[in-house]
Order: sequence, then structure tokens, then C-alpha cells
Amino acid sequence: MAGPKATAAFEQALQLMPGGVNSPVRAFKSVGSTPIFADRGEGPYLYDTDGQRYVDYLMSWGPLIWGHAHPEIVQAIRSAAERGTSFGLPTELETAMAQKVIQLLPSLEVVRMVNSGTEATMSAIRLARAATKRSYVVKFVGCYHGHADQFLVKAGSGVASLGLPDSPGVPKEIAERTIAIPYNDIDALRDLFLTRGEEIAAVIVEPVAGNMNCVLPRPGYLQAVRELTRSYDALLIFDEVITGFRVGLSGAQGRFGIQPDLTTFGKVIGAGLPVGAYGGRRDLMEMIAPSGPVYQGGTLSGNPLAMSAGLVSLNMLEQAANDGLYERMEQYGNQVVEQFLRLGQARGLPVYGHAIGGMYGLFFHEGPVYDFADVCTSNVELYVQFFHSMLAKGVLFAPSAMESAFVSAVHTETELNATLDAMERAFAELK
Ligand code: PMP
Repeated sequence: MAGPKATAAFEQALQLMPGGVNSPVRAFKSVGSTPIFADRGEGPYLYDTDGQRYVDYLMSWGPLIWGHAHPEIVQAIRSAAERGTSFGLPTELETAMAQKVIQLLPSLEVVRMVNSGTEATMSAIRLARAATKRSYVVKFVGCYHGHADQFLVKAGSGVASLGLPDSPGVPKEIAERTIAIPYNDIDALRDLFLTRGEEIAAVIVEPVAGNMNCVLPRPGYLQAVRELTRSYDALLIFDEVITGFRVGLSGAQGRFGIQPDLTTFGKVIGAGLPVGAYGGRRDLMEMIAPSGPVYQGGTLSGNPLAMSAGLVSLNMLEQAANDGLYERMEQYGNQVVEQFLRLGQARGLPVYGHAIGGMYGLFFHEGPVYDFADVCTSNVELYVQFFHSMLAKGVLFAPSAMESAFVSAVHTETELNATLDAMERAFAELK
């Protein structure tokens, strides 16, 4: 529950920003309250302006795989800032960052840095349309790919949390070029390709869906999407804005052994600074200006602060991955999930969950969830109660039943035990 300082701050913010925020889900509308305000973070903990401390599983919606204010990342940002915050000229840092990302992601031959996940996905679609000379794009219901016009069609995340099916302001002609079909349903995609295959430029997919809570791909699903797209000469775009460097060092593509044509990144790649990237096959990426005719640019793209933070973060991840970081984060998530299932089942509540790498999902749902329709049948009222009860006990989850939970490399046994204990007390309060 928001304290007096947050309540006053939100009242003021409401006068000055739409809904009082700069990004919709932050307003806590989906959990029927006003938001807490962040003051500072330290490792796995977030402190609000009313002096409360929380074990943080929001982790800024995913980027903070090293937790808050990691000393090496802070130092990298500080040193970069002292040399200048932006140049508008090439820097060696950008080359180092490109080299690291390409080294870690086998499907990438060439990469372009941008400033957000939205920019990355928007640019990848433009490229796909140019390369295939086709205009239709396929996305999956409940997947979120940022707020560019062509993606606000049956989208997840805030769009779904706020019950906004699509968005006014997107011209019908653009929305019509995006075909949304259910996630995890290979027959739906096959049928679509049978009738429209020659018109489809690209299929864009979150390989683990992280914007309708956390939904895993069915075994073989991503492989089948890869084969179908290839056989119709449509491009496969993996949107790894959430899964990149989070479900494994080589993202979901490494974990599931799939080579997409293009990949988009955001979040973890910038360690909390505003950054995104897209990359893939050389023949495709060479179509981007100034190598080729497809235009995309950015004054602050490849920003030295973001590159420095990202590079340090990726280097640390590479080392930690050798020491079992991703397995450890997954085990942590699994322990939270197990407690959730145990407590829910003991009380006869509908519960389901799973973890993969540094992300996990908790659902008040009877049995497995495979797509957005399943997620929509989960009990949102129970989630809202659970969210507030956990918050009151010092544990911060996403303020929406439609979002994943994130573990960082710096969450330890202490935070895990605090979470398991808080959960025991929270379930005792659920009605
Ligand atoms: N793609 C995915 C899979 C995302 O989760 C998000 C953001 N949640 C985006 C794209 C858009 O990224 P950004 O908010 O940085 O524009």
C-alpha cells in the first residue's frame, strides 16, 4: 500500500503526466491502488519514498539482472560520464559492444544499437518488409512488442492489463497488416500460411512469452515456427527483449537451439540504461542505412553510458554463466513457484507456475497455461490480493497479473527465505 509520501507525490504527478506516469503499468491501476514511489535500490532491494524496503522481483521490468546499483556497473557509468555523455560520432565502445553481443548470440552476424525495445522491434519489421517485399506481419495474441503502431494489435503487457484490446490512433490500414493468432498453436500458424503464406513478411514471437505473465513454448513449437517460416520464405524474428541474456547467456534461441533470421533486444542488454538492439543475418542487416536503403537512425543510439554499462554487465554475465548463474536463478524461481503451488494447493486454490532462467510466472489458474486465452481465465482478484499482501510484507511483484517475475544474480538465500516466509503469511490472508 502506498504510504503518505507516495500518495501526495502521485496526486501531484496526476496533474502533470497522463495517469501520473511515464509508462502505463506503473500507475498500479491493474491492482486497484495508487503506486509506491521508488527512492533508491540496492542489490535485490528497492526502497520506496515512504521508507519501506522490498525484495524486488519487478527489477525495473527485467533489465536489472545484476540488481540495483551494482558497484561495477555504477563505476562503468561514472567513468563513461566523466568522458562525455554523448558524441554523435562513432566510438570504440560501440564496436566492443557489437562484438560481445555477436559473440554471445550465434544467429547474429551484424547488430545495430537503438534506444529501446520498441525501436528495435519497429526497425526489425521495417527491415523484414523491405527484404521480403511483403507487408503482412504475424504476431501472437498476448505477446507485446513495444508500442509502434503495427504491434498494438491484441497485445499483452499494459495493453492487456488495462483491458485495452488495441489502440485508437492506429490507422485501420496499418492494424490490418498485422495478423494476430494464438501463441503455442502451430496449426493456427500452418493454416494461416496455407492461405496467406506468400503475403507474410515476418513472424515475430516472444520465444518465452513474458507479457502475459510468463508462458513457456510447448515442446517443439518454436522449431515448427522456424520450419514454417523458412518454407514460405518469411522471416522469423525472435523478440528477445525480455528473454535475451535472461533465460540463458545466448537467450531463448540458445536455450531452444533455434536460429531466427532477426533478433530484437532491450532490457538486460543495457543493465538499466535506455538501450535496445536488433541484429541477425548479414545479408539482411546490410540493407540498413548507410549500407543499404532501409532507413533507421538515432541521435543517442550507441550512447557511451549505455554501452559501458551494457558491456560490463554482459562480461560479468559471461563469467557468471560459467559458474552456473542461470541454473541458480532458475532454481531460485522454482523454489518460489514450489512454495506458491504448495500453499495454494493446501488451500484448494487454483495455482500454477514455472521458472526459466531468471524469470518465473505465478498464476492463480487451474492447470497449465499455453496462451492468452488461458491466462485470461486465471483469477485476477486473487492475484490482486496476493500482490498487496506480499507488498505489505516487503516483497514487490509486478503490479499486474499479466507480467512475469524476475530474479537477479544478486538475490540470495536470505531474500528467498524472506519471500517464502512472506508467502506463507500472505496465503493465510487470502479470501
Ligand atoms: N518487446 C518485448 C518482448 C517487451 O517485453 C518490451 C517491453 N516490455 C518491448 C518489446 C518494448 O520495449 P521498450 O519498453 O523498451 O520499448
